[in-house]
This record gives sequence, structure tokens and C-alpha cells, in this order.
Amino acid sequence: MSHVLAAVAWPYANGPRHIGHVSGFGVPSDVFSRYMRMAGHDVLMVSGTDEHGTPIQVQADADGVTPRELADRYNRVIVEDLHGLGLSYDLFTRTTTRNHYAVTQELFTGLLDNGYIVRKTTLGAKSPSTGRTLPDRYIEGTCPICGYDSARGDQCDNCGNQLDPEQLINPRSKINGETPEFVETEHFFLDLPAFAEAIGSWLDQRENWRPNVLKFSRNLLDDLQPRAITRDLEWGVPIPLDGWRDRGDKRIYVWFDAVIGYLSASVEWARRTGDPEAWRKWWSADSEGKDALAYYFMGKDNIVFHSVIWPAILLGYSGEGDKAGEPGRLGRLNLPTEVVSSEYLTMEGKKFSSSRRVVIYVRDFLSRYDADALRYFIAAAGPESNDTDFTWSEFVRRNNDELVAGWGNLVNRSISMAAKNFGTIPPAVDLTDADRDLLEVAQAGFATVGDLIGKHRQKAAIGEAMRVVAEANKYLSEQAPWKLKDEASKPRMGTVLHVALQVVSDANTLLSPFLPHSAQKVHELLGSTGVHQPMPDIVEVDDLDGGPAYPILTGDYTVGARWESVPLVAGTPLQAPKPVFKKLDTAVIEEELARLG
Ligand SMILES: [Zn+2]
Repeated sequence: MSHVLAAVAWPYANGPRHIGHVSGFGVPSDVFSRYMRMAGHDVLMVSGTDEHGTPIQVQADADGVTPRELADRYNRVIVEDLHGLGLSYDLFTRTTTRNHYAVTQELFTGLLDNGYIVRKTTLGAKSPSTGRTLPDRYIEGTCPICGYDSARGDQCDNCGNQLDPEQLINPRSKINGETPEFVETEHFFLDLPAFAEAIGSWLDQRENWRPNVLKFSRNLLDDLQPRAITRDLEWGVPIPLDGWRDRGDKRIYVWFDAVIGYLSASVEWARRTGDPEAWRKWWSADSEGKDALAYYFMGKDNIVFHSVIWPAILLGYSGEGDKAGEPGRLGRLNLPTEVVSSEYLTMEGKKFSSSRRVVIYVRDFLSRYDADALRYFIAAAGPESNDTDFTWSEFVRRNNDELVAGWGNLVNRSISMAAKNFGTIPPAVDLTDADRDLLEVAQAGFATVGDLIGKHRQKAAIGEAMRVVAEANKYLSEQAPWKLKDEASKPRMGTVLHVALQVVSDANTLLSPFLPHSAQKVHELLGSTGVHQPMPDIVEVDDLDGGPAYPILTGDYTVGARWESVPLVAGTPLQAPKPVFKKLDTAVIEEELARLG
């Protein structure tokens, strides 16, 4: 039994999330967490909405609202979407809580005290009309290298060269077209080169990471530069230093505060349970948490933040970079055990794009289809290790051929036959080799499927669970219990149905991390009571330190099924089942394609 932290990437609160966002890390982190809990581990699954930074400021200006109002709007939308998918967060919070501000400032101060944050003067672009800083990517101009006339301030998309905005010929603001002013500005930088050696030797000890993640991370170490962690911006966490704290124009950079969210959300969770130090069981590198495991889930564009930058922050705060130092008051903190990154999902062969309407939002999806149908597609055909295309025809095919005709059919026909002929789960007498073989296949699934989920090979894991389903369907066809209706054969019919129902129960548990909503239904159809798969709740809470109230996702996940076969009890009453999954009319394919831009 271990303490297992499931640290899930923070969705940015500038709009509703589409299914590409939840395919890479949302659903996979929930599958992993549900399985680890069922296997007896003490899981803490945390995340929240990432709400600071320029894009939210710019969009709020365009919508005529404050950044906080914009973040409030999309925080709620995202919380509802993740709830609809049944993602079992212990805490899904947000980065605008006062607790998050305090933890972010504590890490900033700890790094500064140990000498890992340095002050530098740089040139920054300012809008002459608003006085606001213009981020690099909001500046456009002619590339000084190739002459392309729409190069961005950070890079030229035509020749691929990295640029600084002051190098652009005829620079202009993408927001209002005016020519930016370049002025000297002072900022704080994280001294990343001071961690190259420590991170290098840590990466050398990593086992089981996906090879692409390890290789990419090692390559980054060759060219580490100090990285700015403050910005000329009004919207963000204040810099916790005299002379800076009350300045309206300087804030901590959003990327720095967002990664700290994993820690601040754990602290908030502990404070809300009434045991404010409980987070240490998942984080402390010295005492209670020293054997804890920490898994980080994200899309591949965020690997650098989790395999290099966040470890650097943790090492620096713990006093373990080139300059040594003392741990801050939170103590030495654990580095990630594993960085689990996914690839990209595309939509009908195109990149998801809200502006070009190549998109389906989670909310719209869930208004027309069941959450488990999407969860099944993501597990069986998602972007686990390759960029993957979502097509409506493949979604409908997998739903109808695999979920409905495979698993749903097994559940439906075995339960309805037993209900009709016996009214209860019939007893098993005189097992044959065929009976025992099938029961063993299902039993063996617990080790195989569990091992694969633990290694983040969910596609193979659900394939193994569905293999048990296929074997059970084959068994029913071969044993043909519907032909065993006469008085003399009826005990054999009961035995076959008992075996089939036992395998339905086992397969249901094997599939339950992937399909938690339907697992609960199948559990009840088998005449069982109680919770099989616990679900998250949306709870309106007060900010712990006096800020505005907000909705969180949380739940009691200590109840629920264990990762084991539970013997069915003969005589348990059964009702004629309602179908667990819905067959989709192929007409929805054309309807959905017509909705795309
Ligand atoms: Zn160029």
C-alpha cells in the first residue's frame, strides 16, 4: 500500500474544453486513480483550473469583463464538464484561491532565499496606449532573417527561427495594431542551469518512463537558460517582496504559479479534511511521504514543465541544486515518480480549432452521448502513444460493435436468461473443464489488466478486459444454455448461467476504471447493492482564507469495489435488465459532420 499522488494537468480557464483536452490526460488519470484505489493504495488526485496570464487578461478586455469574472465563468463550465465525465478528483480547485497565492509565494521566497532566483534587466514591449506589456506572441512584424511579414515576437513560422520581439522589422501589436515601445524592465529569473546536474542524475535513475519523454527531457538539459518567472502584468500572483508586493504592474508569471498548483491543491485538500498536515504523506521527502509515489499526467507540449522545470523548483526549494541551501518551512519535497505524457488527438484529420469550428466541446458531447461511450473510445483508441484521429464513424462503430454488441450483449443476455428461468442467480453444480477454463480466464485478468494500467498501457489493458468479454460470449454460444430447458438439463443450464454471471461480475470490475457509470449499473443488475464506483460531487465552498466562494470537485472514494473477484451468491434475486449501453443510429455520423466547420 502506497501513497499515490495523481497530479493532473491544469486546464486553462479561457474557454470550454473540447474532447481533445480530456482525452490525453483527463480520462487516463481517472482510470489510473480508480484502479490504484481499488488495488488498495491511498490515492490523492488533484488539479484545478489555471486562471492567470495574458490570454485571460486579453480575452477579458475583449469581452468587457474582469479577468476574475472570465475565470469564474470558465472555471464553472470546466468543473461541470469534468463532473459529467465522472473524473474522481479528491480536489479540483483553481489558481485564484488565497491558499494557492500563499503556497506560490512560499516557494518563490524559498527559492530566493537559497539563491536560485536572480534579478535581471531586460527589454520589454509596452503598448503606448494602455501602458500594458505586450507578450512576445502578441507582437507581429517582418522577420529579420527571411523577410516573412507575419513573424511573431517569439518565432518566425516561415523560417522557424527563434526571435526576440525587438528584432522584428516594423513591429506591431496584434491586439490593436499600434507600434510597441521597448523599455527596460526588471524581472526575476529561475536559475535553471544550477539544476542541470541534479536533474541529469535524477533522470538517469528514472525507470519505466516512456522513452520519448526521457529522451526529450535529457536533450533539454544541454541548453538550460535562466527563465523569467515574473511578468509586466496586472493579473496574477503578487511578488512577495517589499517594494514589489503592492505594485500593480508586476506579477508572478503564470507558468510558475500553475505548476505549483499540484502542491497548493494538496495543501488545500488537507486543510479541508481538517488535518492540515495530511498533504505531507504524498509530498514530504523526509518523513511520512518518503515512500510516496507521484504520477503527473499531461499532453506532450507540457513535458518540459514537469520533467525539468517543476523538478528544478522542488530541488531549489529543498536546497538541492548547485548552490545547496536549506529547505523552506514545507520541508524537502518529492520529485515526480513518473511523467506520463500523451500525444495529440485530432478531429476528422484536422487539428482541433475553436475558431475554425473543428471542435466538439465536452459539454455538447455529453448532451448527446453517454460519458462511458466517450471514455471507452478514449481508452481503446485514444492518443496514448501516437497522435490519434477522432472520427465520428469510428466512434459509432466502436460503440455499436464493441460496447453494445460485445459487452452490453453479454450482460443483457446472461442476466435476462437467468432472471427469466430462475428469477435469481442459480447455483453452480458439477463444473466442467469449459466452466473452469472460463472462470480462470476472468481470474487471470485481474493481474494482467491491473499490471497494464499500473504501467500506463491502458489501451492494452482495456483490450485484455474485452478479451475476457469475448471469451464469455464464445462460451455462451458453445454451451447454448437456451437449449437446456427440460427438467433434466435445468441444473446444467443453471450452472452455465452461474458461470457466465460470475464472469460478467469479474469483467465488470476489470472494466470499471474505464467505464465507472455503467459498472455501477451492471453491479445493480447482478442484484448487488452499495457503491461499486464512487462519483465526484460539485460542492460550493468558501475560500479558506476569506476570498470569494467557488465550486470544487471532490468525493468520498474510500467506498467502492476492490480489485478482486467477488463470488456471486446463489439465490440473489434478479430482474429483467434494461440495456446498459445505447446503440447509435449511423445517421448521427452525418449530423455531427455537418456541425463541423
Ligand atoms: Zn523568418
